[in-house]
Parts: sequence; C-alpha cells; structure tokens
Amino acid sequence: MTPMTQPIDVQVREVGMRDGLQSIQAIMATADKQAWCRTEHAAGVAEIEVCSLVPPRLLPQFGDAAEVVAFALQQPGLTVSALIPNLKGAERGIALGVHKMNYAMSVSEGHNQANVRRSVADSVADFGRIVERLRQVPEASRPRLAGGLATAFGCSIEGRVAEDRVVELALRLAELGADEVVVADTVGYGNPAAVRRVFRRVKRELGALPLGAHFHDTRGLGLANVLAALDAGVDRFDSSLGGFGGCPYAPGATGNIATDGLVFLLQSMGLETGIDLARLLPVVGWLKGKLPGVDFPSAIAIAGLPKNFVPAGGPTLQEAV
Ligand code: ZN
Repeated sequence: MTPMTQPIDVQVREVGMRDGLQSIQAIMATADKQAWCRTEHAAGVAEIEVCSLVPPRLLPQFGDAAEVVAFALQQPGLTVSALIPNLKGAERGIALGVHKMNYAMSVSEGHNQANVRRSVADSVADFGRIVERLRQVPEASRPRLAGGLATAFGCSIEGRVAEDRVVELALRLAELGADEVVVADTVGYGNPAAVRRVFRRVKRELGALPLGAHFHDTRGLGLANVLAALDAGVDRFDSSLGGFGGCPYAPGATGNIATDGLVFLLQSMGLETGIDLARLLPVVGWLKGKLPGVDFPSAIAIAGLPKNFVPAGGPTLQEAV
C-alpha cells in the first residue's frame, strides 16, 4: 500500500460489495468477493461494507457472508462493515465480529414497508434494542453502529420526503446511541440545493457525531451532491467501485456514485483520501471481467486518468507508486 504521509481529509467507503451486488442477479463467487476486498483495500480503501446480513433466502447473494467477513477481517487495518436490517442481523454481525454495522431504515413509510416490512416507528424502536444489545458486548469487541436513513431526498413510492422528517429521525437515532448517522439518497432524487440544506441542518443537530452521505447517481447528480455535502461539512461518503449497481425501482438505472469517480473528484481538488487511483482503476477492470453483462458507468474508469495527472497538493502518481 502507498505509505500514508498525509492525513485523510475525506473517508471513502466502498459499498459495492453490498449495494452493487444486491442489485444484480448473478451470484459472485466467494473467492472473487475476497479478491475484490483484498485488492481494493490494497489500493488504500480503508472501509468496506462487505455484505448484507439478511436471511440468504431473501438475498442469496449474501449466503457466503460468514466466509467473506472472516476473510475481510484478516486484512490489516481494514474496517469491515455489514448492513443490518434489524436486531437479528445485529446478532449475526456481533457473532461474526464485524467492526461496524450499518443499520438500514427508510425515512418514508412506503419504502420502509417495502424494504424491511415494518413501520418507521418499529424500525426506530428496533434500533434502540440493537443499541441495548450492543451495550452487553465487551467494549473491545463491540461493533460500532451507524444509523442509515434511506430515501432521505425522495422516495420512488411516495415521492416527496419532508426535510423536517429527515432531521428529526437523524436526531432520534443519535439520541438512541448511534455512533454515526448516514443520510442516503437511495433513488437519486436529491439535488445539490436540497443536499446542502438537509446536511447542514442534520450536522447542526448532531454536533460532533460523525455524519456520512450515501448518494446514488441514478439521475446524474451524484458527484454534484457530493460537492454540496462537502460544503455542509460532510467528510465521509459511500460509493461503489466503477459505479456499478442499480435501482430496484428503475430498471437499467445506474447505481451508487463510483468510488473511482469520487476519489478522482476529491483528489483533483486536493482532498486526501489515502487511496491510490493508479492502483484502484485496475481493480475496476478486473471486476468488469468478473461480472460480465454488468454496466460500469464510471467515467474515469472508461476514460482513464488525465495525462500526468497530479492530485492537487498531493504527490504525482509516479512518486506515489
Ligand atoms: Zn444505496
């Protein structure tokens, strides 16, 4: 790995192993998931959401979660996270020893019912039970808990989502004991003005509690929304390698913002991510080979780095590798 000489300004968290993979039909081989995890971490990605801890009958893609997590935990310095929809998922995450659990609930009732089959109030109550459960785990081995709010900028079932509701739920998860809150534009309805407004308000409510953003590029505004969130003080973003993935409500639509595109944006502007793009881009090429027929819309992966690309304020790639 590139020696890290500079502090990290912005954390980039890979979620393609969960968000991307859950949206495709083909089941990726366990060994390929492990190779992906190892090589992307070697390129400097410090946190990877490696699976969703849902029953395999619902998402067969994650039937090998135990093996993938066990392998990921062997990667030195990698923060291994998993998505959990409920207390049952949390029990599995604790048993597997993940470092972090990303709790998923939606701001809109319709999406929460469709996704986790219960009301928003029930999801909030379950989050409280997970916090209680985690308090019984010895601190040294206790996973951190992030509270994720999906459909925060609009919902494919209900349409508009009230900003007040997003702020209220973010505060509620924080009060219950979240270690971090993540606000997600699950279906790509957000725009930079709304993103700036909502993240500013949430940040004001949460104070020093870490606040992350999760954007999808479904309607092409993903990286514009990143800039707006940066403006609002957000310093951690979820993304998917090569931008692969989809939207269950819009067949053929693109998925998360691309990890490589996000890193290119940040490093072009002089924001350090600890990630070596020259080592990351070949992983996209490798992944394309492993997922035939899957779209990888990332512009930087298609076009390649500009000639003599020098991250603003950073070392040249020649110096870095
Ligand atoms: Zn997502």
